[in-house]
Formats: sequence, structure tokens, C-alpha cells
Amino acid sequence: MKIICVGRNYPEHAREMKSEVPTEPVLFMKPKSALLQPGQPFYYPEFTDELHYECELVLKICKNGKQIQAPAAHVYYDKITVGIDFTARDLQTRQKAKGLPWEIAKSFDNSAVVGSFQEISSIPDLKEINFCLYRNRQIVQQGNSKDMLFAFDELLVYITRFFSINIGDLIFTGTPAGVGPVDPGDKLEAFIENDSLLEFDVR
Ligand code: MG
Repeated sequence: MKIICVGRNYPEHAREMKSEVPTEPVLFMKPKSALLQPGQPFYYPEFTDELHYECELVLKICKNGKQIQAPAAHVYYDKITVGIDFTARDLQTRQKAKGLPWEIAKSFDNSAVVGSFQEISSIPDLKEINFCLYRNRQIVQQGNSKDMLFAFDELLVYITRFFSINIGDLIFTGTPAGVGPVDPGDKLEAFIENDSLLEFDVR
């Protein structure tokens, strides 16, 4: 499986990063080894001094496909959760400044953490999903899928122009504004609406 991530999909986050608001989706990938396995602890990596959380809605792919057309896109994902796209911001800033690839900042081991998956069919309106992240019981990020520049189906169409998708692949759909640092000892908890789907400590 692979993890496809969307950058700058919420205009307010693009602005806080002083990045341009994109006119087409910004994509990057994380390998399978980036996925934190269920029940395993998350350790603060030794190569960064500025580890940031990015809380995102995550889709799970349920059907193999390529060059998907918009009207059919919704049948390719059947589950959703919240996840954290961990980012070594210091490394990313350095790589971006030099015009170099981001993988060391974004795709390292355990940089993708996902919550319990819910059936997509249980979500009343995919264009109106509230989600949020708490750090040490304080709310730090709050998003709504209506603010995405590119909605789920548009993302699937764009992604599969370039990459086949396979059953079990994950799509991180971008983070809203409010990204920030974590420290060892922090407790992170993420919700879709009122459901707590992800809770873990940074060690
Ligand atoms: Mg992200």
C-alpha cells in the first residue's frame, strides 16, 4: 500500500505557511513504512527539533483504479478517519529553500498516524465534515471539509491521472490552519464531529 498526501488543500493553511494557494492539487507520498502500526508507541524522531502535527481527514481506498472520472470517484473510497501527517518542519523549510524533495521531512518512519476508520456511509454530508485536534486537552486545529480547495472526488480524479490506486491505499486530504509543534510527553486526540477516533502520546 501507499499513502498519498495532499498539500495546501486549505487556503488558510497555505497562507500560514506563506505558500501560494495552489490552482491544482499538490501531491506527495509516504511509503508503507511511514504508517504507525496500531498499538505501537510514537517516538519523537532524533533528526528534528521542530516536529509539527498536521491533522487531516484520511480516506481509505476500497477499489483498484486509474484515470477515474468524477461521477464514479465516490465508489473508490469507503472509509474515513482523522490522521496526523507529522512533519519535520525544520527539515522541510531547509529542503524547500533549496528546492529539494521533501521526503526526509514528511515520509519518515511512523510519520503517518491514523485513527479508527468509520464507514463513509455513516457520514451525512461529505462536504460538511467537522474535525479537530486537541493537544494536551486544548484545541489546536479545527477544520471543515467544506473549506477544502479540492474535494474528495476531485482529488481522486487528479491523483489517478498520474498514479494507480489500490485497495488499502490511504489519502491524507490536507490540513487546515493551526499547525504547530509537539513535544515529548504531549497527548494528541483527534475527532470527527463528536467522535474521538485517535488518541496517543508522543514519547
Ligand atoms: Mg499535510
